[in-house]
Amino acid sequence: MADSGTRTYKAAKRYIYAWGGGKAEGNGNMKDLLGGKGAGLAEMTNAGLPTPPGFTITTEACNDYFAAGKTLPAGLWDDVLAAVRVVERETGKGFGDPKNPLLVSVRSGAKFSMPGMMDTVLNLGLNEATLQGLIASTGNERFGWDAYRRFIAMFGRIVLDVPTRSTKAKDGTLVQHNRFDEALDAAKEKHGKDAKDTDLNVDDLKKLVVAYKKIVKTTIGRDFPDDPNEQLDLAIKAVFASWFGKRANDYRNTQKIAHDLGTAVNVVTMVFGNMGDDSGTGVAFTRDPNTGEKALYGEYLTNAQGEDVVAGVRTAPKIAQLATDMPRVYAEFKKIADKLEKHYKDVQDLEFTIERGRLYMLQTRSAKRTAAAAVKIAVDMVHEKLITVDEALARIEPAQVDQLLRPTFDPAAIRTATRMARGLNASPGAAVGRAVFHADVAAAWAAKKEKVILIREETSPDDFHGMAVAQGILTAKGGATSHAAVVARQIGKPCVAGCSELEISYSSKTVTAGGVTVKEGGWVSLDGTTGEVFVGALPTVEAKYEDQKDLQTLLAMADKVRRLQIWTNADKPEEAAQARAWGAQGIGLCRTEHMFREGPRLEIVRAAILVANVATRAKAKTAARQALTAEEKKAVKTFDAKMAKLEEMQQGDFEGILAAMTGLPVVIRLIDPPLHEFLPNLEDQLVKVTKAGAKATPKDKELLATIKSMHEQNPMLGLRGCRLGLMIPDFVKIQTRAILNAAVAVKKAGKDPRPEIMIPLVGHVNELIATQTLLEAEAAAVVAKGGVKIDYKFGTMIEIPRACWVADDIAKHAQFFSFGTNDLTQMTFGYSRDDAEGGFLLKYVEDKILPYNPFQSLDPVIVQEMDMAVKLGRKTRPDLKVGICGEHGGDPMSIGFCHDIGLNYVSCSPFRVPVARLAAAQAALKGAAERDK
Ligand code: PEP
Ligand code: MG
Repeated sequence: MADSGTRTYKAAKRYIYAWGGGKAEGNGNMKDLLGGKGAGLAEMTNAGLPTPPGFTITTEACNDYFAAGKTLPAGLWDDVLAAVRVVERETGKGFGDPKNPLLVSVRSGAKFSMPGMMDTVLNLGLNEATLQGLIASTGNERFGWDAYRRFIAMFGRIVLDVPTRSTKAKDGTLVQHNRFDEALDAAKEKHGKDAKDTDLNVDDLKKLVVAYKKIVKTTIGRDFPDDPNEQLDLAIKAVFASWFGKRANDYRNTQKIAHDLGTAVNVVTMVFGNMGDDSGTGVAFTRDPNTGEKALYGEYLTNAQGEDVVAGVRTAPKIAQLATDMPRVYAEFKKIADKLEKHYKDVQDLEFTIERGRLYMLQTRSAKRTAAAAVKIAVDMVHEKLITVDEALARIEPAQVDQLLRPTFDPAAIRTATRMARGLNASPGAAVGRAVFHADVAAAWAAKKEKVILIREETSPDDFHGMAVAQGILTAKGGATSHAAVVARQIGKPCVAGCSELEISYSSKTVTAGGVTVKEGGWVSLDGTTGEVFVGALPTVEAKYEDQKDLQTLLAMADKVRRLQIWTNADKPEEAAQARAWGAQGIGLCRTEHMFREGPRLEIVRAAILVANVATRAKAKTAARQALTAEEKKAVKTFDAKMAKLEEMQQGDFEGILAAMTGLPVVIRLIDPPLHEFLPNLEDQLVKVTKAGAKATPKDKELLATIKSMHEQNPMLGLRGCRLGLMIPDFVKIQTRAILNAAVAVKKAGKDPRPEIMIPLVGHVNELIATQTLLEAEAAAVVAKGGVKIDYKFGTMIEIPRACWVADDIAKHAQFFSFGTNDLTQMTFGYSRDDAEGGFLLKYVEDKILPYNPFQSLDPVIVQEMDMAVKLGRKTRPDLKVGICGEHGGDPMSIGFCHDIGLNYVSCSPFRVPVARLAAAQAALKGAAERDK
């Protein structure tokens, strides 16, 4: 082929890269410029695989086209024509040649795969004259006319923008009809109700061509273009335009793909899968994209064009059938598939066409896959020595690990549930929602926080916005590689596809199957793992980590790579045990106050709070040898009795947790929230007392008075954390005793308790000193009395900006730090953590005032504060152990920051422990890669 060495270009930049004859001007590394498809075709050609000759117009040309106000850059058109001449030479055919016509497809292809989101035109170059050449060269009149009518319909819809016909349904909603499809249906109907497109004969197809051309003329007022050059010019511009089409824009927004990348355009020689029974077309994955199983997976159709497979027009047989139908072609395809997988070291998604027994590869790209498949494939490929452990770890998104731990349906509920239908298990997971039949309805309902299942005959890229917000997707048509299946897998939504039992009526908004009809808004549950569809909202159960061997293997690999430890935030023994089973190496936060709210405890806590102030004052008087009033004596008695009860109960809690975490550290934080959180709401109590009037009980009046006296305008900045302990010391004293008595009991039971007592909300070092002095005495007394050695520590949370500045002083007294980034974010930004997300904050993110929600992922300024605190703290105490226990501890991006600033551990909810293990490994790998640069 004429390559870049000999070709000259008219345009100021090189916009065109051709391939053919075993040689390509581009290569697989040029995705930025050639898009994924163009780079893949170039790479396959260079690897000696059979590809149909063609050329790619670069993404740069697309961007320059838009920059110039939708005008092709000067000289580009000449370069396109020159490239067409190259393809003519390679194929021995002529573009527009009535005797031996070259037909091409014009295909979009961006850097990142955007399946079905942009446009493609097939069979371009056909007109009445070239059609005769096509028929003569193939000896197949029906094939020629079928190709021509497909071309007019496709070009008409995509390039000429022929409008749909809209009618009003009974309920007033607008229903859109594709005019070409209507004409096709009318033609088919002449052959009976269930006639297929293959039933149409030459005469029917000729009439259809006339009908299609008439549709073009009457709707857009121009004749269908006959000149192949004009067709090509318009098609290139239409593919460029599809980059900014609604579907593509929506898709990029959800997938966070930049809008300024542009699409390449691939002009590729047409090869025909619809030339008879020795022809066919298909899509296949080198491994099963649902399960990861190492076997060719896909579908193919004989005598069909690629769009037929993807659109699910006919249900395609499995790829294995090709081994029986065309054994030689299957063997060649299998060999190519293996070669491509080894070459790219990843599972490939392949498109191929067989034209009269000859195989052509049209596309190879890295395959989209389910989370389960991604993990299995990564682990298998390490075992096959195809990739390294580091590569395997880098390939899995932390979100995929999250997906694997998502709920499934409760098997007990499934046994008694009403199964409506069974379809193809296209994308795994359990989904429960209300039935909706239109993507716009799905979007509108989801905006009102309704959970929906989008039910369609089949989905198209126009439905993407509805699929993105649905819990799950259900289609009546289409297979494992249909649009619904591919997109659902990619965005991690459960999907049941090709569920042919479903009778869907868009006009009456119902779906009927298995003798049941579900109306819009009715609950349905679908299981994308088994393909089953149920009536009603089924209960779900948590996914079992224990059953997922590949995930465990992957995370064990991650454990060897990561430096950060992964701890968990847990308040109950069963949570602690769960997290430990999932790999937690300690408890980084046990919020003791959570236990105060459970069962009978709340009443005990309330009774203590009611007298806490009087009792605390009375105790101070006693210490100063002053006499107490009768009321004070009574308050002290009540208070001490309630506190003793609480102490006993908390000791039980701590024994459970320390036993479950034997041998591992357990950070127990002393009471943190303002006390009034344990009392009834002020307004409710006021209403109660006011309503009762003179009949209000003294108890209720007293409660109201106490609530009022404790009321704060800004409780988050008020009497909480260590301030509370300093004002009412008994609250923290009993907790310290309960922790250490629990440790003594657990130790005596033969286990290895490692309690670490954490003091919250320290802003000034003196707060820590005062609290610790108070508590050390209690702790020492308990341990001395217990008679066993307990290895305990005192440390502090760093969650007030001031504490970061004086971390060197604080480290003189604290044996460990734990960042409370929920409060640190609240106080650094000045955003209320209780209100901001329900108010302005999400709008801020939407309007890009903030790049993301800082309560979800650490803001860089918070990271700077943390970094400073770590450095200051370790200046004083070089071996200071530092962790994080705010919500950010389970967020992959934040985990990366925590690794970078040298924390010892991150602590997150038990459910996120596996995700955090992977994220920590990825952070370590990234750190190593940056050091190697
Ligand atoms: C924090 O502030 O980040 C924290 C862990 O404590 P809490 O959320 O309980 O205030
Ligand atoms: Mg806090």
